[in-house]
Amino acid sequence: MLENTKQHEPRKDSGEVKAKKHLGQHFLTDLTIAQNIVNGLTLAKNYKKVLEIGPGMGVLTQFLIQNNNYQTYLIDIDSESIIYLKKHFSELEKNIVEGDFLNMNLEEITGKEPFAIIGNFPYNISTQILFKVLDYKDQIPEVVGMFQKEVAERIASKPGSKVYGITSVLLQAFYDIDYLFTVDENVFNPPPKVKSGVIRLTRNNKSKLDCNETLFKTIVKTAFNQRRKTLSNSLKPFLNETLKEMPVFRLRPEQLSVEQFIELTNLLDTLN
Ligand code: SAH
Repeated sequence: MLENTKQHEPRKDSGEVKAKKHLGQHFLTDLTIAQNIVNGLTLAKNYKKVLEIGPGMGVLTQFLIQNNNYQTYLIDIDSESIIYLKKHFSELEKNIVEGDFLNMNLEEITGKEPFAIIGNFPYNISTQILFKVLDYKDQIPEVVGMFQKEVAERIASKPGSKVYGITSVLLQAFYDIDYLFTVDENVFNPPPKVKSGVIRLTRNNKSKLDCNETLFKTIVKTAFNQRRKTLSNSLKPFLNETLKEMPVFRLRPEQLSVEQFIELTNLLDTLN
């Protein structure tokens, strides 16, 4: 496979363009890792489009486009990267979009059909990227992304873990998460200060949670904002004296599964 690869040399610091810190630019320079990230897409779900966020110099893109069955879309906020991409991936020209992923109407780019998301994400906005994925969850069957390692671990973590938190619960309500592998600092230019982790999110079959979803989000956020407290303390404003005596409120938020948060929401919904 690799010998057929159209190699696009990752952009070195040749004076052509310098990595911009405020845009979270850390360019991956290891092609084996790039290929492994792209291989993280199972392509098992029924979709024909893949959207890459923050392609930079296209180190992942070069592997993505090898699979002709999929239409590739690229979004980057950096105009210099866009110029570079249009030059090196001219075949994608009309699918290369300049702008801020967070402010985009994705339907205008990919249409109404399902699409997967892939990227070595800018770490400063990675949580916001995932919340946007949730907004489009019924169109996004699969996400493969590289994050700061701690963020990747948190998203993938299970109840009982010290790092289990808001993003774990909100994402695991709709996606199954696999932690794929860890990536070292020294394979980036410039190297970030922290290690990275690659995870895969696979949409589960729930179209809706069995509870008031707005209240569910509020409860998850409120409970974890005081994660050391028991739920009877952190959720006091939502409780009455009778409910407070139930054993579940003696727990701390990190002990609750997604299902238990749903049950809890239904309990509190009767009062609020
Ligand atoms: N995928 C490339 C680049 C990763 S660096 C590689 O692995 O080498 C992160 C990329 O995200 C940069 O190209 C940066 O310009 C882009 N980026 C940063 N903020 C963005 C935003 N809000 N929307 C879209 N792209 C963004």
